[in-house]
Amino acid sequence: MDCDVAIVGYGPTGMALAALLGQQGRSVIVLERYQGLYNLPRAAAFDDETMRTFQKLGISEKVLPGTNIQRGYVWINGNDEVLLDIEYDNPGRCGWPSQYMMYQPHLEDTMDTLVRSTPGVEIRSGQTVIALADDGEGVTVTARDENGTEQTVRARYVVGCDGGNGFVRKHLDGKLEDLAFFENWLVCDFEMRRNVPGLPSFQQVCNPAQSISIVNIGPNHHRFSFRLEADADRDELVKPENVWPRVAAYLTPDDADLIRVANYTFLSCVTESWRKGRIMLAGDAAHQMPPFLAQGMVSGIRDARNLAWKLDMVLSGYDDGLLDTYQKEREPHVRYITDKAIELGRAQTMRDPEKARERDARMIAARKANHKPDKLVYPPLKGGLIDNDGALLPQGLVSTPARTALFDEIAGTGWLIVAADRPALSEISEGDLESWKAMGGSDAVFALTQMFGGGDIWDTNGVYGRWFSETGAVAAIVRPDSYVYGLAKTPGELSTLLGGLLSALGPR
Ligand SMILES: Cc1cc2nc3c(=O)[nH]c(=O)nc-3n(C[C@H](O)[C@H](O)[C@H](O)COP(=O)(O)OP(=O)(O)OC[C@H]3O[C@@H](n4cnc5c(N)ncnc54)[C@H](O)[C@@H]3O)c2cc1C
Repeated sequence: MDCDVAIVGYGPTGMALAALLGQQGRSVIVLERYQGLYNLPRAAAFDDETMRTFQKLGISEKVLPGTNIQRGYVWINGNDEVLLDIEYDNPGRCGWPSQYMMYQPHLEDTMDTLVRSTPGVEIRSGQTVIALADDGEGVTVTARDENGTEQTVRARYVVGCDGGNGFVRKHLDGKLEDLAFFENWLVCDFEMRRNVPGLPSFQQVCNPAQSISIVNIGPNHHRFSFRLEADADRDELVKPENVWPRVAAYLTPDDADLIRVANYTFLSCVTESWRKGRIMLAGDAAHQMPPFLAQGMVSGIRDARNLAWKLDMVLSGYDDGLLDTYQKEREPHVRYITDKAIELGRAQTMRDPEKARERDARMIAARKANHKPDKLVYPPLKGGLIDNDGALLPQGLVSTPARTALFDEIAGTGWLIVAADRPALSEISEGDLESWKAMGGSDAVFALTQMFGGGDIWDTNGVYGRWFSETGAVAAIVRPDSYVYGLAKTPGELSTLLGGLLSALGPR
């Protein structure tokens, strides 16, 4: 074998997966059809869960200079009346601000530097994957360079992170379920020359005559996106002389340089089968959604996080049925978010003026009555390797005698038992404890229910005291992706929960 895992495609999903697997000590070869990074923005934002993954990778501080923390999001109608004014949580559940606006080339440069410095990971650029052959023992990947020269790579597993039109999905079975959203948008990106007072930082103009989305994409860039009608002349619209009049109410050429104009078709679909034998799909190769919730790339990074530790366990000898839990967990999650993104997109971009007037009246009345918009909470994972919870473990500040830091920095991100006190662990059998330790399991014990002693860490800003009391648990088993496998209300329940996990994983 040339490597443990071959990754096809070096977009954000492939980069995250390569870095995660490399940090786990796995050998990885990435095959990417282009020579260099794309170097232009596509995604505009990411969330606190993604930042927690960057934290795990050790790059959160390096990512920050290419981002703005987004405090809120405003919808206005065609008459400039505010329909909705959402405030994002800061910090969010994962211990970081809930919404970052970003300049994607900065993020990709940062991830690329990390991946290139990770031992065991090799990037082969200018290699288009054209064939895959899974013989049950491994997969032979054939790639072709610009000169037509072919090379093969032998890998124990292959993950297709090759985007919406990728080869790997077509190779698996190619069946896509269309989730019935299809709109053309014109996306115009600007590099700012100066600060423009009054330029909205994140605003949706819900005008039935012309929907516009205005967002900052990091500290020095701004994006205007316009919904297009099906009969729009897209070749004409991308010409700079036709872009400037569209943004004239906000920007002039003295304020900013137009760096890119692109036509995008926003669509939504889910691939039927994300795994066949030793070949899997992740990111846009498995699912696509319109960008109204800024969750497309983020979902791909969640896939990578979900898959990386499962591949690592299977490569270290656990049953490879574990890999079947990947689609079981990720597909319902991504479908829920896609449905919400479509719902939001439809509400923002109504074409019918009468329906839009009704929407405006309803939303303005809710604002006058001081009804705060509901915060969108993504669902827990279900099915797969989840017992009775599946939510993300919150991340707060914790302290040891030596230091105060975010929880993951202190407790780590392997398999973890998080307990309110030491007696919660008392009924775990010796044998189970040994098996738990053999799979790299450790514990993080608070001193929440005892005044003195017994705890390794203190709940510095109260996040865990609240969480234990809301869930009624004395302990939880947390997976390496920070999702909770299960909650235990008594020491006996923790022992049963751990036994159930060990038998679900089977022997090594
Ligand atoms: C206008 C717009 C705005 C968006 N805004 C957001 C946002 O704010 N937040 C968010 O989270 N998401 C957003 N998204 C979605 C996000 O950009 C995508 O979900 C994300 O890029 C998917 O990443 P990926 O790595 O899965 O695929 P891609 O980024 O498509 O990368 C796939 C890679 O595979 C390579 N490849 C393809 N075929 C082969 C082959 N045969 N051999 C080798 N290499 C191959 C490609 O060259 C490419 O590098 C937005 C999308 C658009 C279009």
